[in-house]
Amino acid sequence: SEPLSFKQEITAVFGQPVAENPTQVMIEAAFADAGLAWRYLTLEVAPSDLAAAVSGTKAMGFRGFNLTIPHKVEVIQHLDRLSEAAEKMGAVNCVIRDGDELIGENTDGKGFVESLREVSDPQGQNVVILGAGGAARAIAIEMALAGAAKFTIVNRSTERGEQLTELIKAKTGAAVEFVHWTDDYDIPAGTHVVINATSIGLFPDVDARIPLNTDSLTADMVVADVIPNPPATRLVREATAAGCTVLDGLGMLVNQGVIGFRLWTGVAPNPAVMRAALEEVFG
Ligand code: NDP
Repeated sequence: SEPLSFKQEITAVFGQPVAENPTQVMIEAAFADAGLAWRYLTLEVAPSDLAAAVSGTKAMGFRGFNLTIPHKVEVIQHLDRLSEAAEKMGAVNCVIRDGDELIGENTDGKGFVESLREVSDPQGQNVVILGAGGAARAIAIEMALAGAAKFTIVNRSTERGEQLTELIKAKTGAAVEFVHWTDDYDIPAGTHVVINATSIGLFPDVDARIPLNTDSLTADMVVADVIPNPPATRLVREATAAGCTVLDGLGMLVNQGVIGFRLWTGVAPNPAVMRAALEEVFG
């Protein structure tokens, strides 16, 4: 019989604030389901302690870790290598330990594209992205790598909107246009995918309205929301009523977790177990 072992493989998320990050629930459910003696720790790390925390992962043999606000950009200087997508985005949300090296990856956009592929092929598509922050950036780069043809970036602040527009121009071959978001936006006819990548609708502001003319949503469009909590956002409900194909933010969250899990363990987790674990904590 196997010798007893009390040592578990460790993964984690570093953030500040981090207490409300639900990733542990879905990853540990997937570890248990896969029969892996692994743990996923939710760790509060201040910006001034990030370097020490990353070298601590090497000292203690962590298998990998996630980064959330405010560490996704700052962590890069402490890593040995980056994936193509992480390099283009300039942001890392997932680190994988490979021998003595720490490799930076970004699974946010990959999780989104995996969700989208279940309903539609990104190749050649016209994409409207509402928002231009970290989530928008990850989704845009990954959609461009997946062959999307054209992006319309709609953002409230011109500064962030123009930064993302320039990034798409510099790093991808896709066409891109910036729209300064001042009042209710009309989705142009011919749009294949509409993505809310703003934080509008996130708990507790669940009734907040995205400035959008919902009459411009048509049944031939895919409408996706990045907000994981609650999954049935106002946009998700309105797009469903308009007959659109709808993707909620829980799917994206689960899929980015699936990718990180696979990169760390080499094993494919059960996404249904992960989604059920999140649905339970989100009530
Ligand atoms: P950022 O702070 O980087 O960006 C926020 C974006 O939302 C900006 O473009 C900002 O515009 C816009 N915005 C915020 N409030 C408003 C408003 N009232 N009106 C118009 N625009 C607004 O955040 P992130 O990109 O990191 O995260 C955005 C959301 O994505 C979060 O809610 C997060 O939970 C979710 N997310 C979900 C993931 C998932 O797996 N499902 C993964 C990652 C993130 P401006 O530039 O004008 O400020």
